[in-house]
Amino acid sequence: MSDASTASFGPATIAYFSMEVGVDAGIPTYSGGLGILAGDTLRASADLGIPVVGMTLLYRKGYFRQHLDEHGNQSESPVEWSPEEVLESVEPRARVTIEGRTVHIRGWRYNVRGFGGHIVPVYFLDTSLAENSEWDRTLTDHLYGGDNHYRLCQEVVLGIGGIAMLRSMGHKEIQSHHMNEGHSALLTLALIEEYTHKTGAAPTEAQKDEIRRHCVFTTHTPVPAGHDQFPLDLARRVLGEERVDTLLLTECCMGETLNMTYLALCLSRYVNGVAMRHGQISRDMFPSYPINSITNGVHAGSWIAEPFQRLYDKYIPEWHTDNLYLRYAIGIPLDEIRHAHSEAKRALLDEVRLRSGVELDPQVMTLGFARRASTYKRADLLLSDLDHLRRIARQVGPLQIIYAGKAHPRDEGGKALIRRVFEAIAAVRDEVPVVYLEDYDMVLGHRICSGVDIWVNTPHKPQEASGTSGMKAALNGVPSLSVLDGWWIEGHLEGVTGWSIGDSWQLASDSAAEAASLHRKLEYLVLPTFYTRPVAFLEMMRSAIAINGPFFNAQRMVSQYAKNAYGMAIQSRALT
Ligand SMILES: *Cc1c(COP(=O)(O)O)cnc(C)c1O
Repeated sequence: MSDASTASFGPATIAYFSMEVGVDAGIPTYSGGLGILAGDTLRASADLGIPVVGMTLLYRKGYFRQHLDEHGNQSESPVEWSPEEVLESVEPRARVTIEGRTVHIRGWRYNVRGFGGHIVPVYFLDTSLAENSEWDRTLTDHLYGGDNHYRLCQEVVLGIGGIAMLRSMGHKEIQSHHMNEGHSALLTLALIEEYTHKTGAAPTEAQKDEIRRHCVFTTHTPVPAGHDQFPLDLARRVLGEERVDTLLLTECCMGETLNMTYLALCLSRYVNGVAMRHGQISRDMFPSYPINSITNGVHAGSWIAEPFQRLYDKYIPEWHTDNLYLRYAIGIPLDEIRHAHSEAKRALLDEVRLRSGVELDPQVMTLGFARRASTYKRADLLLSDLDHLRRIARQVGPLQIIYAGKAHPRDEGGKALIRRVFEAIAAVRDEVPVVYLEDYDMVLGHRICSGVDIWVNTPHKPQEASGTSGMKAALNGVPSLSVLDGWWIEGHLEGVTGWSIGDSWQLASDSAAEAASLHRKLEYLVLPTFYTRPVAFLEMMRSAIAINGPFFNAQRMVSQYAKNAYGMAIQSRALT
């Protein structure tokens, strides 16, 4: 196959920090897009032979298992999993000081193995140790659980503890510390202490520059309220007076708050948003910083369903080692695309039957909507005009819809959204079958993205920083019907790779207008193409792969980080 097994750059020189990592279906330490992206980044790094080490927290209670009653009321239970069974405990320990106490940290390693054999180790930090106080032992139990105080303590473990763990594992020559969102920004404080050789001192401008040379920051949140911040008195309590003084003297606090985004911006050499539009919005939010864009991508080998993997292997076997070859999918016979898709669709409908008892019809146009049940994603937009939906089903052709998605346990708005979707499902059920599957995770995401006929996304502009599930769909030949926000501004070619909902990415969202556009497109374009112009529909499926596949993948994304953010020259050997 390739030389990729030798394409290593030696010991790790990039440390990738993320509050959540979704690297394996058996490790439930992610909640959504951010963690999946982290996992895909680490997998693509391993494939490309990039010398990365990953750092995250363990979460013994997992994210959570979702239960929905017949009205769509969500309840949660912890995920039972045993880190011991899937991870390897490492010997060296690390420690941090929290509220004056020493908190001991153990690391668990997971090896991400690239297709050429290169290994990217990921360390999951764990404070559940007998030496720690009872409360400190719970610090790595819950992802996004607890209050502001719990969260800040977790961020000390991730940022400061992560640097300590790197050092005890012998990683001393890290060229770039990559902060995947601001949660890990306290790693800059650990670096300040290393450069100044003490706690409580202020770094010189030269030392700050030196730290910046070693830090990279990716922001993911276009909504100001989404940025992590802590009152300084809480920071004083958790970090101690001296460390907060250091942050103040470094001029990286905003007034009376410790703002993690601001801290990361202050001390990074390279900063980026996760799509072209998101970079622009981030520049508007933080005008004093040069903020670039690197659009997200998904790990092709992980998100392409079996039947399509076989198809690509037959026509473009190079796709696996070099995703650019997906461009040549344009030459794959339409009939074979149809076969591969019906196989993926059958697998999904089997899964739906298994999980819900509902028998969906493989001949019927199937829409998919699966993502975190966050209010800005407006899962109910598609079900906002049931009369129109019924009329479309009666007059143009039948349709059916598959939903999935978890609301954060404390997000009452998100939970109410799920209940509204359930109400609409009950009301429309006789004419438009809709199922809402419980417990959306990587495995289900893989099935749904690859098995539906159209992927629907309805974020409130401009709040979708990137979105990645539509990319997974595209790589499986599934066109999107989506609001022009995030990645879709770049991936959308009307009538070629899918359709837009509304027609301008520059305008703010108007839910009524977008709902009307969504229904009109279904009525006049999407369903008629599917039912009366099947060849045109297959051509769109193929274009979705050939046009969007070569770009919206994690190999391209990681190569861009290597070139633009890490300042590495990728040897062409690594890519062939
Ligand atoms: C891909 C994926 C996401 C992210 O999808 P978005 O389009 O960004 O919402 C979230 N959760 C799971 C389980 C996924 O597979």
